[in-house]
Amino acid sequence: MAPLDRPALAARYSAVKASIPGNVTLVAVSKTRTVEEIRALYDLGHRAFGENYPQELREKVPQLPQDIEWHFIGHLQRSNVKHVIPFAHMIHGLDSERLLDEVAKRANDLGRSVDVLLQVLIAQEETKHGFSMDEAKATMLAPWKWPGLRLRGLMGMATNTDDRTLVKREFEDLAGLFHSFEEAMRPTFDTLSMGMSGDASIAIEAGSTMVRIGTAIFGERC
Ligand SMILES: *Cc1c(COP(=O)(O)O)cnc(C)c1O
Repeated sequence: MAPLDRPALAARYSAVKASIPGNVTLVAVSKTRTVEEIRALYDLGHRAFGENYPQELREKVPQLPQDIEWHFIGHLQRSNVKHVIPFAHMIHGLDSERLLDEVAKRANDLGRSVDVLLQVLIAQEETKHGFSMDEAKATMLAPWKWPGLRLRGLMGMATNTDDRTLVKREFEDLAGLFHSFEEAMRPTFDTLSMGMSGDASIAIEAGSTMVRIGTAIFGERC
Protein backbone atom coordinates (compact mmCIF):
# COMPACT_ATOMS: atom_id res chain seq x y z
CA MET A 1 0.00 0.00 0.00
CA ALA A 2 1.19 3.52 -0.79
CA PRO A 3 2.34 5.51 2.24
CA LEU A 4 -0.20 7.93 3.62
CA ASP A 5 0.13 11.39 2.06
CA ARG A 6 -0.75 13.57 5.05
CA PRO A 7 -0.44 16.96 3.34
CA ALA A 8 -2.78 15.81 0.56
CA LEU A 9 -5.29 14.52 3.12
CA ALA A 10 -5.10 17.79 5.05
CA ALA A 11 -5.64 19.79 1.85
CA ARG A 12 -8.69 17.75 0.83
CA TYR A 13 -10.11 17.96 4.34
CA SER A 14 -9.69 21.74 4.41
CA ALA A 15 -11.34 22.08 1.01
CA VAL A 16 -14.30 19.96 2.09
CA LYS A 17 -14.70 21.88 5.34
CA ALA A 18 -14.55 25.18 3.48
CA SER A 19 -17.41 24.03 1.25
CA ILE A 20 -19.71 23.27 4.20
CA PRO A 21 -21.52 25.95 6.22
CA GLY A 22 -20.72 26.04 9.93
CA ASN A 23 -24.15 24.75 10.96
CA VAL A 24 -23.81 21.56 8.87
CA THR A 25 -22.11 18.59 10.56
CA LEU A 26 -19.48 16.72 8.58
CA VAL A 27 -19.33 12.96 9.03
CA ALA A 28 -16.12 11.63 7.48
CA VAL A 29 -16.99 8.30 5.87
CA SER A 30 -14.11 5.99 6.68
CA LYS A 31 -15.36 2.63 5.36
CA THR A 32 -12.49 0.65 3.81
CA ARG A 33 -9.99 3.25 5.13
CA THR A 34 -7.13 2.18 7.34
CA VAL A 35 -6.81 2.98 11.01
CA GLU A 36 -3.78 5.09 10.06
CA GLU A 37 -5.85 7.24 7.69
CA ILE A 38 -8.56 7.73 10.30
CA ARG A 39 -5.96 8.59 12.91
CA ALA A 40 -4.45 11.18 10.56
CA LEU A 41 -7.82 12.90 10.16
CA TYR A 42 -8.36 12.67 13.91
CA ASP A 43 -5.02 14.42 14.40
CA LEU A 44 -6.34 17.25 12.21
CA GLY A 45 -9.10 17.66 14.79
CA HIS A 46 -11.89 15.62 13.24
CA ARG A 47 -14.08 13.51 15.52
CA ALA A 48 -17.18 12.28 13.61
CA PHE A 49 -16.61 9.22 11.45
CA GLY A 50 -19.04 7.05 9.50
CA GLU A 51 -18.75 3.30 8.95
CA ASN A 52 -20.89 0.91 6.91
CA TYR A 53 -19.87 -2.57 7.99
CA PRO A 54 -20.33 -3.96 11.53
CA GLN A 55 -17.24 -6.15 11.45
CA GLU A 56 -15.03 -3.32 10.22
CA LEU A 57 -16.41 -0.96 12.85
CA ARG A 58 -15.77 -3.51 15.59
CA GLU A 59 -12.16 -3.99 14.50
CA LYS A 60 -11.38 -0.31 14.21
CA VAL A 61 -12.92 1.05 17.40
CA PRO A 62 -10.40 -0.43 19.89
CA GLN A 63 -7.46 0.79 17.79
CA LEU A 64 -8.57 4.42 17.81
CA PRO A 65 -9.16 7.17 20.40
CA GLN A 66 -12.27 6.82 22.52
CA ASP A 67 -13.61 10.29 21.87
CA ILE A 68 -14.41 9.48 18.25
CA GLU A 69 -18.11 9.75 17.51
CA TRP A 70 -18.97 6.72 15.37
CA HIS A 71 -21.91 6.98 12.99
CA PHE A 72 -23.24 3.76 11.56
CA ILE A 73 -24.42 4.73 8.08
CA GLY A 74 -24.68 1.39 6.28
CA HIS A 75 -27.54 -0.97 5.73
CA LEU A 76 -28.03 -2.74 9.05
CA GLN A 77 -29.24 -6.31 9.27
CA ARG A 78 -31.11 -7.34 12.39
CA SER A 79 -28.59 -10.07 13.11
CA ASN A 80 -25.80 -7.46 13.21
CA VAL A 81 -27.45 -4.93 15.50
CA LYS A 82 -25.79 -6.37 18.59
CA HIS A 83 -22.35 -5.77 17.05
CA VAL A 84 -23.07 -2.14 16.29
CA ILE A 85 -24.94 -0.90 19.35
CA PRO A 86 -21.97 -0.91 21.74
CA PHE A 87 -20.05 1.54 19.54
CA ALA A 88 -22.55 3.67 17.66
CA HIS A 89 -23.17 7.26 18.63
CA MET A 90 -25.81 7.56 15.93
CA ILE A 91 -27.40 5.03 13.58
CA HIS A 92 -28.50 6.53 10.26
CA GLY A 93 -29.94 3.61 8.34
CA LEU A 94 -33.02 2.47 10.24
CA ASP A 95 -35.43 1.37 7.56
CA SER A 96 -38.16 -0.69 9.26
CA GLU A 97 -40.05 -0.92 12.53
CA ARG A 98 -38.74 -4.46 13.00
CA LEU A 99 -35.23 -3.08 12.89
CA LEU A 100 -36.17 -0.36 15.38
CA ASP A 101 -37.52 -3.11 17.66
CA GLU A 102 -34.22 -4.98 17.53
CA VAL A 103 -32.09 -1.85 18.06
CA ALA A 104 -34.27 -0.85 21.02
CA LYS A 105 -33.98 -4.32 22.53
CA ARG A 106 -30.19 -4.43 22.23
CA ALA A 107 -29.79 -0.89 23.49
CA ASN A 108 -31.96 -1.76 26.47
CA ASP A 109 -29.83 -4.87 27.15
CA LEU A 110 -26.79 -2.60 27.40
CA GLY A 111 -28.65 0.00 29.41
CA ARG A 112 -27.91 2.73 26.92
CA SER A 113 -29.87 5.02 24.68
CA VAL A 114 -28.99 5.56 21.05
CA ASP A 115 -29.57 8.41 18.62
CA VAL A 116 -31.28 7.21 15.48
CA LEU A 117 -32.37 8.53 12.11
CA LEU A 118 -35.08 7.00 9.96
CA GLN A 119 -33.80 6.26 6.48
CA VAL A 120 -36.29 7.30 3.84
CA LEU A 121 -36.21 5.94 0.32
CA ILE A 122 -36.03 8.94 -2.00
CA ALA A 123 -33.96 7.47 -4.84
CA GLN A 124 -35.30 5.75 -7.90
CA GLU A 125 -33.06 2.75 -7.33
CA GLU A 126 -34.08 -0.73 -6.32
CA THR A 127 -30.82 -1.34 -4.49
CA LYS A 128 -31.37 1.42 -1.95
CA HIS A 129 -33.19 0.93 1.32
CA GLY A 130 -35.55 2.94 3.46
CA PHE A 131 -39.04 3.60 4.70
CA SER A 132 -41.31 4.99 2.01
CA MET A 133 -42.38 8.58 2.67
CA ASP A 134 -45.77 7.32 3.85
CA GLU A 135 -44.32 4.66 6.12
CA ALA A 136 -41.94 7.16 7.70
CA LYS A 137 -44.84 9.54 8.30
CA ALA A 138 -46.94 6.79 9.87
CA THR A 139 -44.07 5.76 12.17
CA MET A 140 -43.54 9.36 13.29
CA LEU A 141 -47.22 10.14 13.74
CA ALA A 142 -47.87 7.10 15.93
CA PRO A 143 -46.84 7.18 19.60
CA TRP A 144 -43.09 6.43 19.74
CA LYS A 145 -42.67 2.82 20.82
CA TRP A 146 -38.92 2.75 21.43
CA PRO A 147 -38.07 4.65 24.62
CA GLY A 148 -34.35 3.86 24.46
CA LEU A 149 -34.07 5.31 20.98
CA ARG A 150 -33.91 9.06 20.52
CA LEU A 151 -35.29 9.98 17.11
CA ARG A 152 -32.95 12.71 15.93
CA GLY A 153 -34.18 13.07 12.35
CA LEU A 154 -34.13 11.61 8.86
CA MET A 155 -31.54 10.29 6.43
CA GLY A 156 -31.71 9.75 2.70
CA MET A 157 -29.63 9.00 -0.38
CA ALA A 158 -30.44 10.51 -3.74
CA THR A 159 -30.35 8.64 -7.02
CA ASN A 160 -26.82 8.18 -8.31
CA THR A 161 -27.16 10.24 -11.48
CA ASP A 162 -25.82 13.30 -13.30
CA ASP A 163 -29.35 14.67 -13.40
CA ARG A 164 -28.98 17.39 -10.79
CA THR A 165 -32.62 18.40 -11.12
CA LEU A 166 -33.72 14.94 -10.03
CA VAL A 167 -31.25 14.86 -7.12
CA LYS A 168 -32.40 18.31 -6.01
CA ARG A 169 -36.04 17.24 -6.12
CA GLU A 170 -35.33 14.11 -4.07
CA PHE A 171 -33.48 16.07 -1.40
CA GLU A 172 -36.20 18.72 -1.32
CA ASP A 173 -38.85 16.03 -0.84
CA LEU A 174 -36.97 14.66 2.15
CA ALA A 175 -36.39 18.15 3.56
CA GLY A 176 -40.12 18.80 3.22
CA LEU A 177 -40.93 15.71 5.24
CA PHE A 178 -38.33 16.65 7.84
CA HIS A 179 -39.66 20.20 8.23
CA SER A 180 -43.26 19.04 8.47
CA PHE A 181 -42.33 17.10 11.62
CA GLU A 182 -39.69 19.43 13.02
CA GLU A 183 -42.06 21.60 15.00
CA ALA A 184 -43.94 18.72 16.65
CA MET A 185 -40.80 16.72 17.46
CA ARG A 186 -38.59 19.52 18.79
CA PRO A 187 -36.05 19.87 20.36
CA THR A 188 -34.24 16.59 19.70
CA PHE A 189 -35.43 16.20 16.10
CA ASP A 190 -32.71 18.32 14.55
CA THR A 191 -30.79 16.20 12.04
CA LEU A 192 -31.32 15.88 8.31
CA SER A 193 -28.56 13.60 7.04
CA MET A 194 -28.22 13.93 3.29
CA GLY A 195 -25.38 14.58 0.88
CA MET A 196 -22.26 12.63 -0.09
CA SER A 197 -19.11 13.63 -2.02
CA GLY A 198 -20.91 13.92 -5.33
CA ASP A 199 -24.07 15.68 -4.23
CA ALA A 200 -23.33 17.46 -0.93
CA SER A 201 -23.70 20.95 -2.39
CA ILE A 202 -27.19 20.15 -3.70
CA ALA A 203 -28.13 18.56 -0.37
CA ILE A 204 -26.91 21.60 1.58
CA GLU A 205 -28.90 23.93 -0.64
CA ALA A 206 -31.95 21.78 0.05
CA GLY A 207 -31.43 22.08 3.82
CA SER A 208 -29.14 19.24 4.90
CA THR A 209 -27.77 19.56 8.45
CA MET A 210 -25.36 16.62 8.17
CA VAL A 211 -23.31 15.44 5.20
CA ARG A 212 -21.57 12.07 4.94
CA ILE A 213 -18.41 12.47 2.90
CA GLY A 214 -15.78 9.86 2.12
CA THR A 215 -14.13 10.13 -1.27
CA ALA A 216 -13.70 13.91 -1.27
CA ILE A 217 -11.69 13.65 1.97
CA PHE A 218 -9.82 10.37 1.68
CA GLY A 219 -9.59 10.00 -2.11
CA GLU A 220 -11.05 7.24 -4.25
CA ARG A 221 -11.78 3.97 -2.46
CA CYS A 222 -10.02 0.99 -3.99
C1 LIG B 1 -20.08 5.39 1.24
C2 LIG B 1 -21.20 6.23 1.73
C3 LIG B 1 -21.07 7.63 1.79
C4 LIG B 1 -19.87 8.39 1.31
O1 LIG B 1 -19.75 8.35 -0.07
P1 LIG B 1 -18.64 9.20 -0.84
O2 LIG B 1 -19.17 9.25 -2.22
O3 LIG B 1 -17.36 8.46 -0.71
O4 LIG B 1 -18.59 10.54 -0.20
C5 LIG B 1 -22.14 8.34 2.34
N1 LIG B 1 -23.25 7.72 2.80
C6 LIG B 1 -23.40 6.39 2.74
C7 LIG B 1 -24.65 5.77 3.25
C8 LIG B 1 -22.38 5.61 2.20
O5 LIG B 1 -22.55 4.28 2.13
